[in-house]
Amino acid sequence: MSLQFDIASTTEHGGRRAQLTLPHGVVQTPVFMPVGTAATVKAVPQDVLEKLNAEIILANTYHLYLRPGHELIRRAGGVHRFMSWQRPMLTDSGGFQVFSLAKLRKITDDGVEFRSHLDGSKHFFSPEHSMEVQIALGADIMMVFDECVETPASWERTKESMALTHAWAARSKKYWEAHRHEVPWASEFAGQHQALFGIVQGGMYADLRRESAACLVEMDFPGYAIGGLAVGEPREVTLEMIALTLEHLPKDKPRYVMGVGYPDEIEEYAKMGVDMMDCVLPTRAGRHGLLFTREDPNNRTSPVVRMNIKKQEFAEDHGPIDAGCGCMVCARYSRAYLRHLFASGEPLGATLNSIHNLAFYLETMERVRTQLANVPR
Ligand SMILES: [Zn+2]
Repeated sequence: MSLQFDIASTTEHGGRRAQLTLPHGVVQTPVFMPVGTAATVKAVPQDVLEKLNAEIILANTYHLYLRPGHELIRRAGGVHRFMSWQRPMLTDSGGFQVFSLAKLRKITDDGVEFRSHLDGSKHFFSPEHSMEVQIALGADIMMVFDECVETPASWERTKESMALTHAWAARSKKYWEAHRHEVPWASEFAGQHQALFGIVQGGMYADLRRESAACLVEMDFPGYAIGGLAVGEPREVTLEMIALTLEHLPKDKPRYVMGVGYPDEIEEYAKMGVDMMDCVLPTRAGRHGLLFTREDPNNRTSPVVRMNIKKQEFAEDHGPIDAGCGCMVCARYSRAYLRHLFASGEPLGATLNSIHNLAFYLETMERVRTQLANVPR
């Protein structure tokens, strides 16, 4: 068994309170997964992530493949051991970064040739190679290699890209089935292996989303992601695409929306039946001095407010970022101090801001899980 998904309760709107069991531990869902691009959640040490109760984090295949290299990580025993994080992890396929970061891409049916955004060196990713890299990294959950269509894209272009994504999903699965025993921790976790998720594409077209979901469900994955969203489309469109795709995915398997979103969005999606989400926003915003707070600190369901810590008005404000937040930053440091750190370019500023924002996201999901568990059946 490499993945077990136990649903405790489901609301009339489809939101589910569940538990996901993976080789490296148990994850309470719906869950928000902090993004650790280069095997680090930027500026936040692993022991702090544990204290924040982060149960699963992401790492990016494209970045780790380029630096330090997946073979180095394989020799280290896999990404968990390399970064000293013994809780569950997920790696993306590298597809999204190849299409968004890398230069001079050449796409064929076989795969993608690209140049590194770091040094211009030439590389080739195919579904098989993405699987090989992800098996070497050894995250508990890995993703099929997909093409991410540019936005906006025509229906024809999206359909063509989707067909390639489906062919690549089948090839990813075939390679994974033949090689899954090669994961670096195979002997440590006898009989267990990684779980491979399919990715539904189809752009902003309802008929293509339906077709993509049906095709992937036919291939039978232990979990499904909804990809290609939050790429600049209006929020109502993201919501509509998620809602209609969820209808076509199996109810007994985990469903993951990639790359979303703001705190109020992740709450909304979780209540619709999305089990997993990830986003760089809490840490990226934190490094830019943007902090998430509640309009009424004593009411954790009041609207989310984005505080810009750079503002002069906080120069002598000796209160916490958010008086209702239980995080270690709000318990100890003032707005004035955080503003000073940010204004002086002190690295501690990025760390403390990121910790608060992650705590805000994780606390939001904790509250949503409690709500979903307490619905009358
Ligand atoms: Zn806080």
